[in-house]
Amino acid sequence: MQRKNFLSKDYVFPGVWQKYQDVYVESVAEPEEYFGELAKQALYWKKLWNKYFDYDPPIHRFFVGGLTNYTYLLDLYDKTWRKDKIAFYWEDELGNTRSLSYHELFREVNRFAQVLKNIGVKKGDRVGIYMPMVPEALVAIYAIHRVGALHVIVFSGFGAEGLASRLDDSKSKLLVTADGTLRRGRFLELKRTADSAIEKATSIEKVIVFKRWKGETDMKKDRDFWWHELMDQIPNTTYVEPEWLEANDPVYIMYTSGTAGKPKGIVDTSAKLVWLYANMLWAFDLNYENRKRDTWFFTGDIGWAGGMWFTVYTTVFFGLSSVFYEGAPDYPKPDKFWELVEKYKATVFYTSPTVFRLFMTYGDEWVRKHDLSSLRTIGSVGEPLNAEAWNWAYDVVGNKKIPIIDTYGQTETLLTVLPPYSIDKIPLKPGSATFQVPGVEAAVLDEHGQPARSGEKGLLVYKIPFKAPSIFLTVWGDVEKFGEKNWKGENEFVNSAYYNVFKGFFYTSDAAMKDKDDYIWMLGRADDTLKIAGHRIGTAEIENAFLFHPAVGAAMVVGKSDTLRGEVAVSFIVLKPENNPSAELAEELRKTVRKALGAFSVIDRIYFVKRIPMNRSGKVMRRLGRALVGGMPLGDTSTLDDPTAVEELQTAIKNKGY
Ligand code: ATP
Ligand code: MG
Repeated sequence: MQRKNFLSKDYVFPGVWQKYQDVYVESVAEPEEYFGELAKQALYWKKLWNKYFDYDPPIHRFFVGGLTNYTYLLDLYDKTWRKDKIAFYWEDELGNTRSLSYHELFREVNRFAQVLKNIGVKKGDRVGIYMPMVPEALVAIYAIHRVGALHVIVFSGFGAEGLASRLDDSKSKLLVTADGTLRRGRFLELKRTADSAIEKATSIEKVIVFKRWKGETDMKKDRDFWWHELMDQIPNTTYVEPEWLEANDPVYIMYTSGTAGKPKGIVDTSAKLVWLYANMLWAFDLNYENRKRDTWFFTGDIGWAGGMWFTVYTTVFFGLSSVFYEGAPDYPKPDKFWELVEKYKATVFYTSPTVFRLFMTYGDEWVRKHDLSSLRTIGSVGEPLNAEAWNWAYDVVGNKKIPIIDTYGQTETLLTVLPPYSIDKIPLKPGSATFQVPGVEAAVLDEHGQPARSGEKGLLVYKIPFKAPSIFLTVWGDVEKFGEKNWKGENEFVNSAYYNVFKGFFYTSDAAMKDKDDYIWMLGRADDTLKIAGHRIGTAEIENAFLFHPAVGAAMVVGKSDTLRGEVAVSFIVLKPENNPSAELAEELRKTVRKALGAFSVIDRIYFVKRIPMNRSGKVMRRLGRALVGGMPLGDTSTLDDPTAVEELQTAIKNKGY
């Protein structure tokens, strides 16, 4: 990489790239110094580590021998001015509000930790969380961490099947849930769903139920307990000493989104939390001044990695005030999020591309009627942020004044490509997540494992061993089934999925490209690539081309095998309001795509639908579309957000489309 001045019109926020390269070089040359310093900033260490790094392939360990507990940060804050600061501003879709100061949070976490101890929860036990976005969910998560148990957060929108499989896979013994939650004005009975899940997840011995509503709930004697009754028995002054955890002791299991197939139970440690601290510091410039004044708003649910990291763990790491919203982005009206930003004067708004694209279809006036001038940064994570959505967020939400920070990562490795803004105000290019972060040695390889040329599409990998604590400890099933290793001395699943694909590298399964300035462009999932008459093209590229047409709100493209061309593209299109499906419009859309991508990019069929299938973290589930057009079984659908989306695709296919 060479240092450059970026002043050309390709860049937004033109500036000089000065320090990033030096910091990057230092981080890979001297990872111990660089990340050791960050670890000391991030956490309180009861005992410092005696070894920075230990590699027993494929297991990486960092800060070996160090003792810490993340929740001790609450103890530290309680001795400072921060104790009176609001940690969470909670609001639901009806506009009810509550808030929790750092002192209140500290007290509640200690009380619930005592409840857990009384029930017999011990270090290493797994505890399921099936809770709506209410403050008690946060209290439960921190308290479980405090006593050294592993939280297994399961999205509250999942049905009994999705919940049961995660509780059973993790062999959780306690479940913390609520009687229900409101979603789009409808009451969802979580406890009832939990009851049927527990019939299958037989490891669950006890259930704690938070009463969110006034209605009746069936409670099973000696198994089910009310949250408030247990908490009422614990004095407000109760103190539970944190369980001091070795830096590589597991702290939670978080299941991946299940976009490609069956969700994987990623096991993380305190060392990986240091990485989260570093990620957020880099991307959002969380220096000491910003930490004092920021009001943070990450919009994702705590039931997926993003919500857990960027709300639960980020808030306390930096002592921020966070907006914590229980409800849908566009309910009761399409400006609910903007209302929250304005009301709480949010400074950082961090969301997913799906959310931007949703708001793009509603029209700018819903955004423009709010004063969003408190914002200093907008972030995005979860899917490629296409240039149109980037520019929309920049123009309409940020009023052309603030950076749009696209952050790329996976449950497995957390964030690895992002604009490292606390290091350098590097220039941004709409549509690129910019650079590999310090400590990560990312490369783009072709199918044969050779480095791709700049500008050439390839697959994103990281050199192993990792030098920084970005990598998970293991996948839950592996350790459970095989102990640390199987009979061949290998960690079976972890090896086959991640380490044995390209020798010497960790494989992300994502397509990427590095441009001439070393900016990384994420091009979608590797399995979402089509080969049309010998040309490789990402489905996301075709989708982005559709989005150039003003009538298109959202697009999903999948491949279908074709005897003549190998594969052809089939598309599902959601139109913006006031546009109607017609053969003429379909023809116009085909032209738009051809113009953007060239003559080979033939669109075989266009189906107009009202919604496309997404999972709970807002990712398009192309594999379901692929299965339907190919007449294959659907596979695991437990992470699907709205099951009617699949029925809609089925009907559209039956009606033959255009
Ligand atoms: P599964 O692994 O179960 O199939 P998943 O990969 O969707 O599900 P996550 O770990 O939640 O589960 O998501 C990580 C994936 O999300 C990445 O591999 C990538 O495909 C996509 N992703 C996340 N952030 C970005 C981003 N900023 N740009 C492009 N892609 C992103
Ligand atoms: Mg994945």
